Amino acid sequence: MPATGPDPIYLDHAATTPVREEVREAMAPFLGASFGNPSSTHRWGREARAALDAARERVARTLGARTDEICFTSGGTEADNMAVLGIWRAMRRKDRRACVSTPIEHKAVLGAVHQVEAEGGEVRLLDVGGEGTVRVESARDALRDDVGVCSVMWVNNETGVIQPVPEIAALAKAAGAIFHTDAVQAFGKVEIDASKQQFDVLSLSGHKICAPKGIGALFIRRGTPMEPLMHGGSQDRGRRPGTENVAAAVGLACAAELVVAEREREGERLRRLRDELERAILERVPDAVVHGRGAPRAPHILSVSIPGTESESLLMALDLKGVAASGGSACQSGSVSGSHVLKAMGVRSDLATAAVRMSLGCLTTDDCVRRVAEVFPALVAKARSMADTAAS
Ligand SMILES: *Cc1c(COP(=O)(O)O)cnc(C)c1O
Repeated sequence: MPATGPDPIYLDHAATTPVREEVREAMAPFLGASFGNPSSTHRWGREARAALDAARERVARTLGARTDEICFTSGGTEADNMAVLGIWRAMRRKDRRACVSTPIEHKAVLGAVHQVEAEGGEVRLLDVGGEGTVRVESARDALRDDVGVCSVMWVNNETGVIQPVPEIAALAKAAGAIFHTDAVQAFGKVEIDASKQQFDVLSLSGHKICAPKGIGALFIRRGTPMEPLMHGGSQDRGRRPGTENVAAAVGLACAAELVVAEREREGERLRRLRDELERAILERVPDAVVHGRGAPRAPHILSVSIPGTESESLLMALDLKGVAASGGSACQSGSVSGSHVLKAMGVRSDLATAAVRMSLGCLTTDDCVRRVAEVFPALVAKARSMADTAAS
């Protein structure tokens, strides 16, 4: 990072977020003198146990859940794997061997679904419309009485499109299937309340909400059948063995409370900034294509394709100007074939490989949006000339 020049602009909050000051402070004692193992019975252990229990209760409250319904994990990926594979393996015993999901899931869910298939499960992926919304009618067809688990994400991490989770959860319930939702990008953006809504299992990740990386949580409604993925100690009622990451759990609880308390205000602020950025880009680059524009979207994600460019060259040009964004998602940067999400939406392949995702969050200000809008047209021109040179 150059020592001089304007401050760099971080527009990749869907990939990860910085740890908040309040979170760091809440965690500090557990990285210091309060180092006990929550399973120990002496005073160090009791202190750690009390902190862990309190963190669990606080996370539960942010979800409208009961304390024993929260399981801490190493992040969103583990939570998704526990849900999809753990439930599928448990339901297989009841002769429900089918698994329903969507082609626009995060790789954490798609990878687990792939494993279900490898273990003999029948996988049915729901249809997705051009605006990036899963078609509820296709869920009606897929959710038959042989389905064990149905997993549909709440907010897509590439387009920000909000999925019809309550509708599909109701269909899954009617079919006797267990319904899981990856709410990693939804938590703190849409209203989530396990006491009113029908999902059975829900995944969270700390580092998307300003807690550290390597901590997440899985809400597991009481009575949900689920096999553990790991075997060992009896921590977390055997659902997830291993000594708990007390400091990170405390950090997650703190971040979860803050993000839920600030949801409406911060959502309005981000939506205004996102819409402003979108408007500025469309005004200056009129043939730009905004994905999911006609669908309900979470306020923090803008996915846009610039015809006649490759995402890599535009991202590089942005980076040189100090602007950090990403291609489809952080996990598939480097992939040349384009995003599986945009493909599933039926986006033309030349547009799918030209997609740039800008995601807003705590670091995004009016000034960031103004500066990106200013430099954008020249960078597009540069990326277009690079594509022309490559073609000739
Ligand atoms: C980031 C993300 C994950 C993975 O979470 P990790 O904590 O990084 O493992 C899963 N699903 C979605 C939608 C995400 O955005």
